[in-house]
Amino acid sequence: MKVPQIDLVRQYINLKSRIDQAIGQVLESGQFIMGRWVGELERKVAEICGVKHAIAVASGTDALKIALFGCGLKQGDEVITSPFSFVSVAEVAMVLGARPVFVDIDKATFNLDPNLLESSITERTKVIVPVHLYGQSADMDPIMEIAKRKSIIVVEDAAQAIGAKYKGRPVGSIGDLACLSFYPTKNLGCYGDGGMVLTNDDSMATKIESLRRHGQSDKYSYRFVGFNSRLDSIQAAIMLAKIDHLDQWTQSRRKIAKLYNKMLVDQPLEVPYEAEYAYHVYHQYTIKTKNRDQLREFLSSRGIGTAIHYPMGLHMQEAYRTLGYVEGDLPNCEEVASQVLSLPMFPELTDEEVTYVVEAIKEFFRSEQT
Ligand SMILES: *Cc1c(COP(=O)(O)O)cnc(C)c1O
Repeated sequence: MKVPQIDLVRQYINLKSRIDQAIGQVLESGQFIMGRWVGELERKVAEICGVKHAIAVASGTDALKIALFGCGLKQGDEVITSPFSFVSVAEVAMVLGARPVFVDIDKATFNLDPNLLESSITERTKVIVPVHLYGQSADMDPIMEIAKRKSIIVVEDAAQAIGAKYKGRPVGSIGDLACLSFYPTKNLGCYGDGGMVLTNDDSMATKIESLRRHGQSDKYSYRFVGFNSRLDSIQAAIMLAKIDHLDQWTQSRRKIAKLYNKMLVDQPLEVPYEAEYAYHVYHQYTIKTKNRDQLREFLSSRGIGTAIHYPMGLHMQEAYRTLGYVEGDLPNCEEVASQVLSLPMFPELTDEEVTYVVEAIKEFFRSEQT
């Protein structure tokens, strides 16, 4: 048996006629950028995320860039975020001339530790970007409390967490702004790049909506210096064909996670921790083990795909050396980066496949002991 870490083709095959028809309709309309599909998708995503405004852009990274730019982030400002994440937040902060400041994570949830937040704030801190890693909400109440008290803007990076909840509230509706990605492997993915900015603030929404199309106010008037970051009609039509299935896919992910948890219970590894405040959408099912690299190799020899999100803290990456971090600065991040392993996880994964993965893990740890 071969079990991939993720398989996007199964989902396409299940929805093939609807998706092919949606693409055909866009081609026949002659409208390829923005248009009615994008507007309809924005309304549906706003409803799912419990926000007034959802503004489609060309990628999740662009969503973060335009959100931070829209907040007025400028040269010399500081952006607090997690070092244990995809690179986008640090990247766009640097591109806008600001400085990423990394706050270490909680080892159980993999998310920014709110207890370490306040001591990292300076008079230059303009924005805090908590990341809802692997599909689990960061602990938002203490983050929002500190941010409000210090007049700092909060932008949620919800790229991995559409549909997730914090104390019953959808992620993306808690901060001042939030960002989503529709990269193909995300829980709601398109067949290219796509993203969205979410907010409840009317004037911010107007500004973001203008910034994604060159800062236009109308066709030949430019109110802001902006960006070209529009969503393709084809991508929106594809996601409209998928979006009504999202809740059912989330439930499948949660069922698969529960099965893994149950079957791995006696193994010498840590299964993901779901905090009491969280409704986890398991973008990834990520275990921790000191034997990570050997286990990964063994599973690969059994035809099982795994992934490492992420093998290194952003503070140790070559491109970010100029920030001056050294090994040991963010010990929790560094420890988990050497231990995490993401097992196969996608809604179409079967119980038989989960069982096969678990049996292989058991076999590995049995052979380790002898
Ligand atoms: C995927 C991802 C992004 C970037 O999204 P793109 O659409 O690939 O630009 C940003 N942050 C996190 C946490 C992500 O997982």
